[in-house]
Amino acid sequence: MKSFNYAITRHGSNAFNQSMCEQQYIDIISAPNRDAAEERAYAKGKDTVYANQWLSARLLSSLSKIDCELLEMAVYYEEEEVEAACIVCGKPIGKLPQWKAGYSWCGCVA
Ligand SMILES: [Zn+2]
Repeated sequence: MKSFNYAITRHGSNAFNQSMCEQQYIDIISAPNRDAAEERAYAKGKDTVYANQWLSARLLSSLSKIDCELLEMAVYYEEEEVEAACIVCGKPIGKLPQWKAGYSWCGCVA
């Protein structure tokens, strides 16, 4: 079956994961249709969707450029953490999300 990429939005503000924010992109899911995408999003995000929140899926190809950028940022935020090193001196600086690991430095930069 052919599948499409869907942008997953989490709706509903909650202090634990999206305080003062009514909706936020959280993921990209590949599925044959919108219902299946939403189903998969719920299955995957069951620990991060609270009682007052719900998920929706939108065809990735229907998003505007700015929405795509927001989505890209959101997906990077969810990325696994890696051992990061200072980009200047190479000293280990602990675990950081992948996207941030390539842009961080330690106290060596005055
Ligand atoms: Zn350094």
